[in-house]
Amino acid sequence: MRRGAVYSSAMSGRTDSARAITVTVTFFADLRRFLPRGADGPQRYTLSGNATIADLLAVVGIKPDADVTAAVDGDLADRETALHDGADVMLLSPMEGGAAAAGEATLSTEGGGDAMERFGYWNKILHVNLTDRSTRIEEPGDAFFRRYAGGRGLIAHYLLKYVPKGADPLGPDNILVIAPGVITGAPVPGAGRHSVGAKSPLTGGFGESESGGYWGAELKRAGWDAIVFHGVSPTPVYLWINEGQVEFRDASRLWGKITGEVEELILAELGDKLIRIAQIGPAGENLVRYACIANELNEVAGRTGMGAVMGSKRLKAIAVRGKTPVKIADQRGLLAMAKWVSGTMDEKHRAFHEFGTGAAMQGKSLEGGMPVLNYRLGAADTIGKVDAIAVRDEVRVRMGACYACSVRCKKVVHIEEREEAARAAAENIYKGRAKVAFDPLGRYSVDPRYGGPEYESLAALGVNLGLDDLIAICKSNEMCNYLAMDTVSLGCTLAWAMECFEKGILTLEDTGGVPLRFHDADGVIKLVEMIAYRRGIGDLLAEGSQRAAQRLGRGSEAFLTTVKGMEMAMHDPRHMPVMRASYLLAPTGGDHMRQTSNRNGLRNQIGLCHFLAYEDDQSLQILKTVTGWDITPEEMVTTAHRGLTLARLFNLREGMSRADDRLPARFSDPLPKHAGLTREQQDKIVTDYYVEQGWDANTGVPTAETIRALELEADAVHAR
Ligand code: SF4
Repeated sequence: MRRGAVYSSAMSGRTDSARAITVTVTFFADLRRFLPRGADGPQRYTLSGNATIADLLAVVGIKPDADVTAAVDGDLADRETALHDGADVMLLSPMEGGAAAAGEATLSTEGGGDAMERFGYWNKILHVNLTDRSTRIEEPGDAFFRRYAGGRGLIAHYLLKYVPKGADPLGPDNILVIAPGVITGAPVPGAGRHSVGAKSPLTGGFGESESGGYWGAELKRAGWDAIVFHGVSPTPVYLWINEGQVEFRDASRLWGKITGEVEELILAELGDKLIRIAQIGPAGENLVRYACIANELNEVAGRTGMGAVMGSKRLKAIAVRGKTPVKIADQRGLLAMAKWVSGTMDEKHRAFHEFGTGAAMQGKSLEGGMPVLNYRLGAADTIGKVDAIAVRDEVRVRMGACYACSVRCKKVVHIEEREEAARAAAENIYKGRAKVAFDPLGRYSVDPRYGGPEYESLAALGVNLGLDDLIAICKSNEMCNYLAMDTVSLGCTLAWAMECFEKGILTLEDTGGVPLRFHDADGVIKLVEMIAYRRGIGDLLAEGSQRAAQRLGRGSEAFLTTVKGMEMAMHDPRHMPVMRASYLLAPTGGDHMRQTSNRNGLRNQIGLCHFLAYEDDQSLQILKTVTGWDITPEEMVTTAHRGLTLARLFNLREGMSRADDRLPARFSDPLPKHAGLTREQQDKIVTDYYVEQGWDANTGVPTAETIRALELEADAVHAR
């Protein structure tokens, strides 16, 4: 473990004669801004012998009344708690992940007697009818949460129950479910996830996407386990959830605005800058089939078009404020897990902390597995100009974090159009601690509120389009965040269109005179906007590549990189065997998150980030310490299995079959360094997985025994 320098301080108002003590302090999430400059990891402070937490905060520079939770040796501590030599102190901000501090209230649940036994979740699901603007609270009980946990399990349960077979994904019968997990909001790194689900307008099947940041944790802290939106609002609306209070608010003046403007307007209207907002952008309003839902401007539930569903409901935003800490069954055990993450930063998360995603792009290119020019080449000479190392060196001003996470893997990019503006920003905003980039061509600025490009965006909006212009890539990534569109589906749709254009299948006549060329960075910027507003050729491309190919015909289907209608992420299955099952069998289509595995399937449902290096037994430990459930590894696997089986039932009901568990033709072609994937190879992976899941080996229909074993009989009734 890396240790920082020793810092000494005289304690005001304390007895100087007391023997000095040394304590070790770990800072979590945004409290890391109090770290001494250049320092990282746990820090040691020397204090007077009778120092308390309040004294320590004063030394660190945190105001005594700040909303900060402290723990000493794993136990919660208040301001007057005395410190001792060798004490291990953790400082967490409740807003960013703090545990219940002594004296803080917790939400009481109806039913009284068993409320004290319930941890991690509140047993409160909010149903919102947008058509008549009514709400109701469902209290489904403890068995429900143990069965579905959250995320995919809960979403699939409600989709089967409420969405009629064959419903239009953009019509009033679809629902939109926002589902954190049972650990979301607990003060442990990675517990800031929530999922969004609906019938997908992109695939016509099970739609779902995860997001990080703070919004999901804020919803839990407001006392809600999930929200289910029904119907369609007659006029634009946003929902304001202030703890237990739920209010519909007019969003007419927000409609048409980009996400940053909407956030400013809502925060001003509600008068509390700590409110967290999830929202759609113009792309969602215009029903772009891969529109996303953004929270805190830089986190997105990106995949499967959830923003279009929200737009179809005329729901512009969901603003949430929650001040009630999630109740934890075993605070001490959970804090130990949090400490494990910060204490093993060097061994487990250092590279991720330094670069986030995308540091290995050069290696991937050398191995011939990088998606380049619509997945045709596997390598690009210019890769070093656009990878995460280049991002750090050229355009990054800092790393950001999600709720409660000490890993801080999120890139934040700031670019100004002009050198003088960049210099002024470096001085005024960052006080000389960061260099602000400028565009030597004077074209683009990039607002740091929108974060920075992750690997998927660097690849989908960059190398797969033949681009090595890092500033333009950061700009299109920023635009995707303020217009709220999925960078992967957008990038792949453009790559498909560019290949069609290259081969003369799409012509200037088709595109209204707009060239669709690889290597054209400025052209991509224009197209991003045209798609979000469905202008000209943007209207066709807003449908996603598969629908566009069906409309265009002329053999353009040969260049698709979609599975079940969703564009594949930036991990070539010819190069990465581990991705093959994910793409073939993920219920959402071309998904690279390996949701088909028990590990990731479970994390999705409980609300735990996939990037944390927890072993499975540690994930189980987190689940136990938060909920108090006496859960076994087998039950954990069953929970993941249940979620995937429910999603499978939904897809089958909506007309999908084994024929949809197949990679597009492009991946039968070889890459220079990797063979293409044969039909037989794919069939074997699919059959093996069906058998492993207890689904029929030929059709992939879950067997009656599996339905019984997973206790899904009631859900299966809705699957017919
Ligand atoms: S590892 Fe990164 S993505 Fe995951 S919770 Fe931490 S900061 Fe967020």
